Amino acid sequence: MKTYLRFAFLLFLLSLVAYLFYLNPFSEKFWSPHSLYELKLSFSDYSQAEIEEWKYAETQAINDSLFVNLPTQIKVVGEAKNFTAWAYRMTLQEGQKLALDISKSSEKELFIDVLFEESAGDFRHFESIKENATDLFISESGNYLLRLQPPINQSISGNISLLLKPAYDVFPVEGKGNKAIQSFWGADRDGGRRKHEGIDIFAAKGTPLLAVCDGEIDRVKEGGLGGKTVWLYDKELDQSMYYAHLDEQLVSEGQYVSAGDPIGTVGNTGNARTTPPHLHFGIYLDKAIDPLPFVKKQTASAKSPKYANEVGKRGMISSKPARMYFAPNSKSKAKSVLVKGTIVDIIGASGSFLHVKTADRGSYFVKKGDLKVG
Ligand SMILES: [Zn+2]
Repeated sequence: MKTYLRFAFLLFLLSLVAYLFYLNPFSEKFWSPHSLYELKLSFSDYSQAEIEEWKYAETQAINDSLFVNLPTQIKVVGEAKNFTAWAYRMTLQEGQKLALDISKSSEKELFIDVLFEESAGDFRHFESIKENATDLFISESGNYLLRLQPPINQSISGNISLLLKPAYDVFPVEGKGNKAIQSFWGADRDGGRRKHEGIDIFAAKGTPLLAVCDGEIDRVKEGGLGGKTVWLYDKELDQSMYYAHLDEQLVSEGQYVSAGDPIGTVGNTGNARTTPPHLHFGIYLDKAIDPLPFVKKQTASAKSPKYANEVGKRGMISSKPARMYFAPNSKSKAKSVLVKGTIVDIIGASGSFLHVKTADRGSYFVKKGDLKVG
């Protein structure tokens, strides 16, 4: 009998460990407000059906997530009784910053999370957004998902602005911008024997080169393919910037510089002797990575949604079957259509499209002209 009890106790301990392992309290996801709220729901007065409906809304939003093109502004409205969750998908590159700005109609709670697509359809928690305005550094290229969900029985109305920024505000060549970048990552070099592990930024000889960030000059060298070179180490991102073909080096090893400080001038030393003066700019993490998203200026501005006033209303597919779209543009047509008379809730708007949810909880973009609103 005693052995039996001991065995039962051991089994209990094992399942407890397994359960904790499953919850993974060491992960950031576990401590996200969304996850904690979900945990809290089990001890709340809400019915099992309501809790299941809330959880299902989130799963469904992710499965039906729609693409948005950045930069963009999105308006969302969700009625409490409708259990609305939103998931917008976007493709981001390592070295970009996603600038999120969310304004809500009131102080109401809204769980805002960014998820990363690990493999097709499989998302892991990337970051919980706790501030209204956040710049999120993208450390991995791929598909991301912005998921929004209010607590059970709470309506929400909000405006979301999504902009792209380069991780570094300072462009490495003074007075220059995207147009001066004329050779890109991966271009053939030496007749295809090696690939270009950086970008080339063209400017007149003597143009100042600027530190893209605060950091330490970890090497100043002369010779080889790069000619006169300077390496700048960014402690925060744990990576080094490589400036090559300099005419003059204005810094020394071990020196600390601030973003925007001149560290050298444009030249054509090394294997650039026979080419017009330019800066070869590279970034090395554990290996060379594409530096373009780290410095490329994003000039487009986000337009507000054309039919923001219709969001939160109910609509009916009018006159003819309505095309469904996966993104707020005409090129993203889905194969199926919504038939005439289908009732939809308008839960969002982006560009000139409306984001609708059907009674069976499907979620699509449609054109305003295909809907009778009100
Ligand atoms: Zn180059």
